[in-house]
Amino acid sequence: MQIFRKLITLFLFVSAALFAQTTPAKFTVGTASAAPGEKVNGYIEVPAGIDAATRIPVTVIRGNKPGPVLALVSGAHGTEYTSIIALEHVIQHLEAGEISGTVIVVPLVNLESFLQKVPHVNPVDHKSMNRFYPGKLDGTQTERASFMITREVVEKCDYLIDLHGGDLDESLRPYSYWSKTGDAKMDATTKAMVLAFGLDHIILVTDRPRDPAASRYLESTASTRDKPAITAEAGYSGTVETDDVNMLVAGCANVMRYLQILPGEAKPVDSPVWLTKVDTVSSDVDGIFYPLVKRGTYVEAGTKVGYVTDYFGKTISEKHAPAGGVVLYVCGVPSMKKGELMASIGEVGRPD
Ligand SMILES: [Zn+2]
Repeated sequence: MQIFRKLITLFLFVSAALFAQTTPAKFTVGTASAAPGEKVNGYIEVPAGIDAATRIPVTVIRGNKPGPVLALVSGAHGTEYTSIIALEHVIQHLEAGEISGTVIVVPLVNLESFLQKVPHVNPVDHKSMNRFYPGKLDGTQTERASFMITREVVEKCDYLIDLHGGDLDESLRPYSYWSKTGDAKMDATTKAMVLAFGLDHIILVTDRPRDPAASRYLESTASTRDKPAITAEAGYSGTVETDDVNMLVAGCANVMRYLQILPGEAKPVDSPVWLTKVDTVSSDVDGIFYPLVKRGTYVEAGTKVGYVTDYFGKTISEKHAPAGGVVLYVCGVPSMKKGELMASIGEVGRPD
């Protein structure tokens, strides 16, 4: 009897081990659980706290073949529509059968901003959803959502791309960011990723947070956890132009080729314009803004970028470019509040 019981135990143990070997564990993000070869939709549930609960849509696309895990995120600012529509395209068209590894797609982090058409912030707590990482569970909705994205997306991925664009009031030209961390291996990978992404203007950033507990941005939340990450922006002023959407979709696909998630050769951008300093021009008065430059215009130091009038048409402020460079974005609406940005100008330099 004793031996019989031991045999049964052994049989159960062996069959459990075999089962574990032949049935690969599912890859789960929020409520989306994907076996190899599956594309599964779900939500990252953000529990209620001192304010309302929310849920963030997520799709997990899992190839049959092994490979890295890439996270694609957009909509931290829910009215940067081009980036959101680009990831909707990825969700609809990227198939599990064509990839090696796993792609996590989070197309719309800031659902209330999208639904209510509120730029820059989450209207629930008036916080930017790309400034409060790694987040905390006892904070406001933005902080709890950031905590859940850190746990469910950043910690489960190997690489990350955060997509943005010009918001409702921002007339922006496409560009990406390469954040140099000082870690040579990480920097080589992120540089290859940003070149593979393919945008022809790249901002070099060297002052991003190094502390994983105070990472602020999604990209830094990944990089401070040893996961190479880049940020790219395209689209502007509430528009969804096909060229801009395609630029972001093609960028994600080419990074997937670089990471060997998709077959084929990654073709990096040839001779991009490197921007080594970004100057911001802000208004010193409230009033009505008249821009004198367009997104993508090259200006010299001293070029007048715009002026502000009072509500009776009298010019009360004029602003000039502090240095020569390319207008990355210019305020796209007449509303101008003291302290807010009129334009940002990227100074051309060398990346090293
Ligand atoms: Zn943004």
